[in-house]
Amino acid sequence: ALPSPGEPPVGLYSADLERRHQQRARIHQLLRDATSRGELQLVYQPKVSLRSGRLIGAEALLRWNSAELGPVSPGDFIPLAETSGEILAIGDWVVDEALRQAREWRGRGEVDDDFSIAINVAARQLMTAGFAERVLTRLRYAGLPAHALEVEVTESGLMEDISLARQTLRTLADQGIKIAIDDFGTGYSSLAYLKTLPVNTLKIDRAFIDDMLHSSHDRNLANTVIQLAHSFGCDVVAEGIENPEQARLLASLDCEHAQGYWFSAPLPAERFLAWKARYHAEHYHEPSR
Ligand code: C2E
Ligand code: MG
Ligand code: MG
Ligand code: MG
Repeated sequence: ALPSPGEPPVGLYSADLERRHQQRARIHQLLRDATSRGELQLVYQPKVSLRSGRLIGAEALLRWNSAELGPVSPGDFIPLAETSGEILAIGDWVVDEALRQAREWRGRGEVDDDFSIAINVAARQLMTAGFAERVLTRLRYAGLPAHALEVEVTESGLMEDISLARQTLRTLADQGIKIAIDDFGTGYSSLAYLKTLPVNTLKIDRAFIDDMLHSSHDRNLANTVIQLAHSFGCDVVAEGIENPEQARLLASLDCEHAQGYWFSAPLPAERFLAWKARYHAEHYHEPSR
């Protein structure tokens, strides 16, 4: 029956909701099988030194190429995987795959000893009992030094349970795993808390980088974050560098490291080394002393 005038078309709305629920359930189910079907992949985005131009590491970013849905972006499926708990299995896969790659590159001498691969860790993973121990066991099993791995956690993720997060991060940091706070400046972490965490690196969110060249306000903010990081004894990675002017400006503000499309988009492992060889040939010259 048609809704009487003035009443919302309830039937239509609930059919719509129903469909959305079904879609969501389907995605959860597909996500559950993604690992075993080999649909997940890590791509690697170079991180470079703004001082020397040298490649210092890579951020591993997850890609899901679903047979049914096509490519799904992590911004869409990670939140779903966090809700369903599937992130725990996926996160373990990410750790293993990143360590396998690190071992391959190191074993063949393709990367320097200080090269590290950073993985993104969701709040739900970080807060799961035994997370740090599992990472450390896998690291040992892979036969890699702890500094080969870096863990990126978001500010908002940390704040979900700061004392549990602190404990987990300390276990990792005590063994030499580097800790970075991702998307810094977009969350709500208080400086008082930050001081109590074993953090090596702050990653300035792209939001501050995007308009730096045109907005003195954003430039000042970026500058403030860089100074702040240094006062905590942290170094800084600027995210989302898309042109050389941004890179130059950030270097002049004393920002140590950068990543972004200007240097390279995230690359499949097999293209990463070719990128590195070309980039170093063009941009990096060994210091003369
Ligand atoms: P994030 O960790 O802050 O990663 C940076 C995002 O910015 C990546 O998007 C990267 O591809 C993109 N990006 C890099 N350079 C540029 C640039 O110059 N311009 C622009 N516009 N974008 C740039 P991506 O790969 O889609 O990942 C989105 C987010 O999904 C990540 O943000 C991270 O929070 C999450 N994510 C990705 N992989 C994983 C994972 O393995 N585990 C977890 N828990 N989260 C992940
Ligand atoms: Mg990240
Ligand atoms: Mg980020
Ligand atoms: Mg982000």
